[in-house]
Amino acid sequence: MLKTTNYDVIIIGTGPAGLQAAIHAARKRVSVLLLGKPDKSSLFWAHVENFYAVSGMTGQQMLNIGREQAVGFGARFLEEDVLQISHRNVLFDLITESNITVDSKALIVATGTTRKKLGAKGEKEFLGRGVSYCVECDAGFFRDEQVIVIGNASAAVGGALTLLDYASRVDLVCENLDVTDALKEEIKKSDVILHEGTGIEAIEGKNSVEAVVLNDGSRIAVSGVFIELGARGVMELVTGLGVQLDEQMKYIETDKKMAANISGIFAAGDICGPPLQIAKAVGEGCVAGIGAAAYAKKVGKS
Ligand SMILES: Cc1cc2nc3c(=O)[nH]c(=O)nc-3n(C[C@H](O)[C@H](O)[C@H](O)COP(=O)(O)OP(=O)(O)OC[C@H]3O[C@@H](n4cnc5c(N)ncnc54)[C@H](O)[C@@H]3O)c2cc1C
Repeated sequence: MLKTTNYDVIIIGTGPAGLQAAIHAARKRVSVLLLGKPDKSSLFWAHVENFYAVSGMTGQQMLNIGREQAVGFGARFLEEDVLQISHRNVLFDLITESNITVDSKALIVATGTTRKKLGAKGEKEFLGRGVSYCVECDAGFFRDEQVIVIGNASAAVGGALTLLDYASRVDLVCENLDVTDALKEEIKKSDVILHEGTGIEAIEGKNSVEAVVLNDGSRIAVSGVFIELGARGVMELVTGLGVQLDEQMKYIETDKKMAANISGIFAAGDICGPPLQIAKAVGEGCVAGIGAAAYAKKVGKS
């Protein structure tokens, strides 16, 4: 049976940041509980080709191996979302979706970011099969192919310009361009084909993306659809505790030890800001895991 009280370290998030934090914390011989659903990790849908020494492995395989490693070092898992966190003396109390309460001395927030969804027909169906939320991650998969980018802001415009180095044709669809005049000029002078004042009605294909249908009914043949509407962190959980966010209220601010401004709270991975990449997530997870374990030991002795 899962013990619910008196953990040294609780980690919210079972993506690469949370798993790496669990591995490093558990190896310091402190008790560790991980909360979250592996299939909700951004990595679950990824085919990774830019992570050191890993080739041809799916994100799902990486998550499974990471989980086995964490369990091997003694970490426990509870596959539930956290709905509430509060602070009681030196302990953090967390309530999960099935109303289980767990507590710990240290907390690591590794909740990733929610990629903003478009809501178009076919978007969910073709995720990882032509639909991407990350130009930086997936541009290389679309060499000499036709792609389309959706979004109004600098992420979309910058993404479209980057894709020119890879794809044979790049279209950009936006309601209205919301970027600096300089960037507007750059995109208009570039080879990107701009469709202003419209949006995407549907993404179509058989096994993978083959075309998009715009709001005006026109159809563009593409094999890649990049949705670049920005990324939003799961902040509601931690702002109530007084955790400091960045100026745009998107990411958690930490020091070099991945500690937030509230004693005992650490953060790692996408929730700490770009680049939204596995390499950064595991590096920060390592640092946060070591820091949280040391903090829990110190609190335990006092
Ligand atoms: C399609 C795709 C392809 C990608 N390809 C690459 C690539 O090739 N190379 C690369 O480096 N990066 C890639 N990325 C990015 C990479 O997946 C992320 O940078 C990485 O997964 C971030 O790790 P993380 O642990 O911070 O967050 P995530 O992996 O997103 O994990 C977040 C975790 O937090 C949990 N969580 C969230 N809220 C709660 C809550 N309230 N309670 C409990 N748990 C919660 C989730 O269930 C999940 O387990 C890709 C992303 C996508 C979407």
